[in-house]
Amino acid sequence: MARKFFVGGNWKCNGTVAEVNKIVNVLNDADVPSADVVEVVVSPPFVFLPQVKATLRSDFAVSAQNSWVKKGGAYTGEVSAEMLVNLEIPWVILGHSERRSLLKESNEFVSDKVAYALSQGLKVIACIGESLAQREAGETMTVVSEQTRAIADKITDWTNVVLAYEPVWAIGTGKVATPAQAQEVHASLRTWLASNVSSGVAESVRIIYGGSVNGANCRELAAQPDVDGFLVGGASLKPEFVDIIRSAS
Ligand code: PGA
Repeated sequence: MARKFFVGGNWKCNGTVAEVNKIVNVLNDADVPSADVVEVVVSPPFVFLPQVKATLRSDFAVSAQNSWVKKGGAYTGEVSAEMLVNLEIPWVILGHSERRSLLKESNEFVSDKVAYALSQGLKVIACIGESLAQREAGETMTVVSEQTRAIADKITDWTNVVLAYEPVWAIGTGKVATPAQAQEVHASLRTWLASNVSSGVAESVRIIYGGSVNGANCRELAAQPDVDGFLVGGASLKPEFVDIIRSAS
C-alpha cells in the first residue's frame, strides 16, 4: 500500500500576525507537487489558527500543537479537541519532545491525549524519540517502542495517525540524523508495529522524521524507503520549507 508523503511544519511558539501572513503568502505562491503526491500540514500556535485557516491555500491543511486530554471544562489555559473540531482544524501534534521534557508529559498522558483527540475526529501527528543519553546507552528502540506501545494500548484504529520519529538530540540542534540512522529506526518501528499491532498498520502508517530537516538534507532522507515525510521545525518558518515539500517527488 502506497503511503502518501507527508510534510508537517511545526511553527512552535513563534510568529506575529505580520510574520504569519508572510509565511502563508510564501506557501500560497509556491509551486509544489499536487495533493495526490504530498500532504502538507502547517501547525501555527493556537492564536493564529483561524488566521492561517482563513488565508492558507486549500490544498494545505492546518494543525494545532496540542489538545487537552479530555472534554473541555474547568482547565484554565487548555484548548480542547472539541474546540479544534468546532473550528474545523483537522490535525493536532501530540507528544512533542518539548512538551514531554519541559512540561513533563508522560507516555501515559500523551497516549490518553492521542486517544481522546482521535475519538473526537481529529487526525494526530504523534511524536516519539530518544534523548542523546538514551541513544548512547543503546536504548533507542526500547524508548521509542515504549512510547509507541503506550499509544497502541489506547487506540485500535491507526488510520488517522502519523507517527513522527524525532530524536531529541536532532531537534533544533542542526545535528540531523543520518539517512541510515533514520531508516534504521523507522524500519524497526514498522517491524514493531507488525508484531505488536498488525501487519496492515505496519504497512500503512506513515512514519515521518523530524529533527534539523532542511532544504539541503531532505532529499537524501526522503529517499529512504521507510521515511514517509517530515516534521519540520525551524526550516518551516522559512521559504526553504517549499524545497522540503518538493522532496516528495
Ligand atoms: P527542528 O524541529 O526542525 O527545528 O529541529 C523539529 C521539531 O521539533 O518538530
